[in-house]
Amino acid sequence: MRTIFGKIFHDGKFFRRMLIDKDDIITMDNENYAPDGSEIMDYDDSVICPPFADCHIHFFQTGLYLGALDLSDVNTKSELLESIVGLSLNDYRIGDVVWMWGFDPEDTMPNSEELDSVAQGIPIFLRRADGHSCSLSKSAQKMLPPDMRIDEGIYSGAIQEKVVDYFLRMVPLPELTIAAERVIQTALDVGAMRIHALVPYIRWAEHLMNIESQFPVEIEIFIESTDVQSVYELGLEQIGGCLLVDGSIGSHTAALNEPYYDKPDSRGMLYYDDTELLDFFHKAYQKGLAVVMHCIGDRAIEQYLRCAEMASGGEKLHRWRIEHAELITFQQLERVRELGITLSVQPAFETRWGMENGLYKKRLGERARYTNPIRTALDMGILLLGGSDAYVTPIDPPAGIWSAKNHPKPSQRINLADAIKMFTENPVLWANSPDVWKIKGNINLMLMAGDFSSPQTAVKQIIRL
Ligand SMILES: [Zn+2]
Ligand SMILES: [Zn+2]
Repeated sequence: MRTIFGKIFHDGKFFRRMLIDKDDIITMDNENYAPDGSEIMDYDDSVICPPFADCHIHFFQTGLYLGALDLSDVNTKSELLESIVGLSLNDYRIGDVVWMWGFDPEDTMPNSEELDSVAQGIPIFLRRADGHSCSLSKSAQKMLPPDMRIDEGIYSGAIQEKVVDYFLRMVPLPELTIAAERVIQTALDVGAMRIHALVPYIRWAEHLMNIESQFPVEIEIFIESTDVQSVYELGLEQIGGCLLVDGSIGSHTAALNEPYYDKPDSRGMLYYDDTELLDFFHKAYQKGLAVVMHCIGDRAIEQYLRCAEMASGGEKLHRWRIEHAELITFQQLERVRELGITLSVQPAFETRWGMENGLYKKRLGERARYTNPIRTALDMGILLLGGSDAYVTPIDPPAGIWSAKNHPKPSQRINLADAIKMFTENPVLWANSPDVWKIKGNINLMLMAGDFSSPQTAVKQIIRL
């Protein structure tokens, strides 16, 4: 028998004491003594949480970018080129290619020739921090089919997506394993032991299924495909992930009912027409697969809900998820509740873009007051899951909890207990897992440094029992 003392968080409340017999929690209460003969583990006033979840991680891409050359401190093209000279580029090779990531230049992306001048003979794949453009050296371009090579070697728009897809598909499986190890180590450092892993290809999902058992975390796999039959055959209960119904607010591609404030001729874009989307929803519904999709703007959320309502005939849609739901309206929230749909949100987005005069304000004008209405959703009884959208923001549940509690719009702040639940108990409810404290059969306690009153709160230690 073990007796744990601390500020133990469970089911929205804090308890003083936890009693554990063998592998099971017997009780949690506010008593101050330990039963005779029990082993005492006293953590005073430290906060102890169940294992955290991150419900939205671009799993392998995050790991690949963690292994890439990080250029987030570099501000201009010439700085970039200078900083590469003298580096051992071989250290950043993924397969045959050097990956570079995080570059957000004040001026422009380098062209092929400029990259070649510093490439040390190794093909270079340089992606801009916002993910919406990339540059390739000449030797990297040569790896592409001829019709994908362009003079300057600076890609944006639809062809960029194709180039990125091409390089991702080229990554050898052993490199994916290394990428997985990197993500999981990063996740463990911040106590994220339940990982919702979004993967773009069935081959990658199969690889993850093969290696998953070696990791001390729980992994839920989401395949970003509309191939219902293949995903069904893999035995998953959901399909999709960050599968795009619309784009992003930053790039003016999130689908809005009213035009962008700073681009009045645009309402963003929808990636599917209703017929295609409804056909996908119907097939998934018939196979019992929950559809999980990225919807940021109110017009995209409307399309998801319209198709979901038609596919299910109004029946409850357990496990179905809208990812992001940043500009969801009150009326749409009511339909989400009606259908039992879950919202998977990223509170850190608000801290990053939701501040007064932040990106949302610039793009949306007055509507920026209504982004990410998590408090309204919670008060309506909607299940909210927390995530990072890594690689977009870092995997960091404690930071997500802090952001939810300190939402830039005071009316949308939620209390600490509810914020912790978004990253612990709610994901367990969603997945129907047996025990919030157990990962792969063992009890894990997250011993916190700090109590979420500052953004620096972190996991000090994971105690595995
Ligand atoms: Zn997304
Ligand atoms: Zn995403």
